[in-house]
Amino acid sequence: MKACAIIAGGGTGKRMGKDRPKQFLLIGGKPVLVRTIGVFEKASSINRIVLVLPEADIGLAREMVASSGFSKVVRLVPGGRERQDSVRNGLQVLENDVDVVAVHDAVRPFITEDLVDLSIKKAAQHGAVSVGVPVKDTIKSVLDDRVARTIERKGLWIAQTPQVFRREILDEAYRRAYGDGYYGTDDASLVERIGVPVYMVPGSYQNIKITTPEDLAYGEFMTKQGSSSATVGLGYDSHRFAENRKLVLGGVEIPCDRGLEGHSDADALIHAVIDALLGAMGEGDIGKHFPDTDPAYRGISSLRLLEYVRDLLARKNRRVLHIDASVLLERPKLAAYTDAMKDNLARTLAIPSSSVSIKAKTNEGMGFVGQGQGIAVFAVATLAHS
Ligand code: MG
Repeated sequence: MKACAIIAGGGTGKRMGKDRPKQFLLIGGKPVLVRTIGVFEKASSINRIVLVLPEADIGLAREMVASSGFSKVVRLVPGGRERQDSVRNGLQVLENDVDVVAVHDAVRPFITEDLVDLSIKKAAQHGAVSVGVPVKDTIKSVLDDRVARTIERKGLWIAQTPQVFRREILDEAYRRAYGDGYYGTDDASLVERIGVPVYMVPGSYQNIKITTPEDLAYGEFMTKQGSSSATVGLGYDSHRFAENRKLVLGGVEIPCDRGLEGHSDADALIHAVIDALLGAMGEGDIGKHFPDTDPAYRGISSLRLLEYVRDLLARKNRRVLHIDASVLLERPKLAAYTDAMKDNLARTLAIPSSSVSIKAKTNEGMGFVGQGQGIAVFAVATLAHS
């Protein structure tokens, strides 16, 4: 199944009172449009992105797409007079192999990858869906400043985007709308009027449309919220000492008459750090991502596994703030090697060495560590939303 997102940007944004179109205003130092495209770029269910923008903005948008390294954006198309005309222009350039189309407002940057993926899945199942949220406030119908009636709130939803459709359904809805000279306020309404049921996918109250200066301020607030909420993960690993093995810790080979038993290079320090990072992301543990039954990981350098976790962090929009680890072993002494270990971890995770701390200590002769049977490592990772 191939899914394409049509991201449609509006006009000049008169309600905003700024001279720049809304989609180019900055939130948290990043243009709204770049934030929005970034979500679809990362959503695994989306294969391609078509951008529809006012003709005058296409040059600037093209530069932003290039400098952001977005690889899914295949077309930039000039918009039409109304939003519906713009979406139609986008539909007209879709390649033949596209099965599902997600239409999204360029100025809804707080949509999430999970919600995009879910709405694509639901549209493939039902044919037509809209992301939306139940109405929280009481809605009144008002005529000449006077309440005409109070509308029953039960069953009322606010439609957001993305609205996602099987391609043939949306094509038919557009063909009929233009045949009848009909203009709707969203894409779902065009589909509803041809008798195809549209299903609601519960969205998020944070999936706001940036329309007024207050929305911009709220958007700033939300990006700050995201970056200030840290998560912490705890990792632990232990390995038994074995003859005829190398001792590798933190990617550094340490001279020793024996090493650690294990499927990979048995780098218990990196394994504990990986478990801490996965824990802070709520992504399970090392065994889930790298099963030791998989021959691909036999003898592999654990730094390669850490690279995989680095990429997962990027996909999950997480940034490593700090890592702290304690290695428990009786011998050999590690002090001479901890700087090299820190550098390996920092380089692999693309963070400063000062964000990595590694300590080593003995277990005072007690337990399996104290008796020299093996080593144990504890690690803590602190992550922020990037
Ligand atoms: Mg291990």
